[in-house]
Amino acid sequence: MAATHINSYYAATANDGACYPTLKGTHKADVCVVGGGFSGISTALSLAERGYQVVVVEALRVGWGASGRNGGQMIGGISGEHRIESQLGEAGRKMLADIRYLGHDIIEDRIRRYQISCDLKHGWAEVAARPRHMDGLKAYVEERRAAGDGDYLEVVEADRMGEVIGAKIYHGAMVDRRSGHLHPLNLCVGEARAAAGLGVRIFEESPVTAFGGGAKPFVETAEGRVEAASIVLGGYMDPAFQRGLLHGIAFPTGSYIVATEPLPEDLAKAINPQDLAIADSNVVLDYFRLSADRRLLFGGRCNYSNRDPSDIRETLRPRMVEVFPQLADVALDFAWGGKIDIVISRVPAIGRLEPNVYFMQGYCGHGVNATHIAGQIVADAISGTMERLDLFERIRHVRLPIGQFLGNQMLALGMLYYRLRDLL
Ligand SMILES: Cc1cc2nc3c(=O)[nH]c(=O)nc-3n(C[C@H](O)[C@H](O)[C@H](O)COP(=O)(O)OP(=O)(O)OC[C@H]3O[C@@H](n4cnc5c(N)ncnc54)[C@H](O)[C@@H]3O)c2cc1C
Repeated sequence: MAATHINSYYAATANDGACYPTLKGTHKADVCVVGGGFSGISTALSLAERGYQVVVVEALRVGWGASGRNGGQMIGGISGEHRIESQLGEAGRKMLADIRYLGHDIIEDRIRRYQISCDLKHGWAEVAARPRHMDGLKAYVEERRAAGDGDYLEVVEADRMGEVIGAKIYHGAMVDRRSGHLHPLNLCVGEARAAAGLGVRIFEESPVTAFGGGAKPFVETAEGRVEAASIVLGGYMDPAFQRGLLHGIAFPTGSYIVATEPLPEDLAKAINPQDLAIADSNVVLDYFRLSADRRLLFGGRCNYSNRDPSDIRETLRPRMVEVFPQLADVALDFAWGGKIDIVISRVPAIGRLEPNVYFMQGYCGHGVNATHIAGQIVADAISGTMERLDLFERIRHVRLPIGQFLGNQMLALGMLYYRLRDLL
């Protein structure tokens, strides 16, 4: 039986159930991409658009991982911008200004060009969970305006918060009209279909068991093999793949979402009058938005120890009701979780294990935009433009020279500290 997506609102509303064959026998390509999430599919599509012969090898289904389960918030910028600026100086600042909304541009262009139906809406807000968080939001907007690119950012003071959200617990907001939200699984499978249409050979239910670079780069599965000039590890793979430069820098942590039953129009309008994607300003944050059929998708409470809660609904419901008491009696139709790959230094890890083996992972929960940026950076590098990849390769990552279990315990302790700080 074909592997299925987990039971989520997204799987229930997927508009493309295309299945791809398993990898059997030996295939040759210019590039072999491992992983059929945004990282892998986005890279494959960027390469196919430039005429490369590409094979994608996915362990389960396209969009099976975080890419088909996330909050759908398309957020400008990438994680770890301060570290990028402090380590790379002016070159880093310039690159960040150039790529901040690059993933949005790529996504919007593909939605248009390949007619991908994925409920894209513009408008995203960060709401201040503490009065002091407004200082940071205002400083960010001023900084961006001073750099000449803050046109679509707006600061909303506490007395106007009713325009942004029907919740009483926030102290102001920053609204970003260039960011927004979408149905991530439909975007991912839509991009895969577009890639297949350009000749990309996609294989599902084909876990990669070995790969190598050197003179004859290859990827191997139980029944097949791909020989290619370059290998791309698209996204976080299991610990056996976390070798060389990747060792000890990234640790997967759980994040969870519930979807309410469809809300009456007036209730949906009362809690989210502008249909924005919303995230709060805490480090251990809540994030939520309305779906196209007016459900509230409420996510949060990352579990950094990497242990899933026994009942996601009961874990998230109290917090959802704390934010929106109006939803106390609303049924939760779906509950699911996924893994966010946290990099200790917060900067996505984009680089090479060997001259022809590329990696991209560690978006720290901000992957919708960043995976598409990373896909283009790696596609640029493979086609000869190394500038941005070089900059990411210059980032010095913090490494924990310990295994995954201990790493997650340390991360959990660190996050407990931030959680307490958020509460103060
Ligand atoms: C609950 C949740 C909410 C989130 N909310 C948001 C949000 O609102 N906004 C945002 O920007 N980001 C969000 N994120 C983060 C975002 O989803 C990720 O950063 C992004 O999807 C990462 O994409 P990826 O392709 O790198 O990884 P994935 O989507 O995980 O894809 C990796 C793929 O590789 C495959 N794979 C792994 N090992 C092998 C192997 N050995 N052989 C073959 N294939 C393999 C997996 O099956 C998987 O399909 C969220 C994440 C989660 C989990």
